[in-house]
Amino acid sequence: MPPVTAPEIEHAIRNVPDFPKPGIQFKDITPVLADARLFAGSIDLLTANFKPGTVDAVVGIDARGFIFAAAAATKLHAGFVPVRKKGKLPYKTIEQDYALEYGHATVAMHTDALRPGARVLLIDDLLATGGTSAAAVRLMKKLGAQILEITFLIELKFLNGREKLKGLPVRSIVVY
Ligand code: AMP
Repeated sequence: MPPVTAPEIEHAIRNVPDFPKPGIQFKDITPVLADARLFAGSIDLLTANFKPGTVDAVVGIDARGFIFAAAAATKLHAGFVPVRKKGKLPYKTIEQDYALEYGHATVAMHTDALRPGARVLLIDDLLATGGTSAAAVRLMKKLGAQILEITFLIELKFLNGREKLKGLPVRSIVVY
């Protein structure tokens, strides 16, 4: 079977207008996940720069990021580490606040989730304003991780999320 291309993934992403609120066009990735070839192909594209054994852990962001990061971790023979919304992780945590359009949110990681110097990828489904992934990066750096790449299936370029990830190796598969 031919390898999956970014345009094929773009074609499968469903645009849902006015969800979860008026004016937001939600990028629904469930049709990509439901298609065996496209799901596997999206993992191949997300992990394209790395061979198994060269990455210690793949960090995924709550909740859709978990799907891609967990699959990428098994492919790379790496561990999977969740960044969760505050209050969900049971053990000792470090936390990071970040600004939302209205108000703020907090993400958390377990204090022992990554060892200092660990070679780590951060994967999320979508880069919008970059607030969430920048907060995840701060947590990963606090634990001393070495961030090899930050990879998104989708980037909404017009929101300039990359500005918040300056100096870091950011890559995205489908750009709007
Ligand atoms: P941000 O912190 O603004 O970069 O937002 C990124 C997070 O919000 C990602 O984890 C996405 O799952 C979610 N998100 C933001 N905008 C959208 C959108 N238009 N469609 C789908 N998910 C979105």
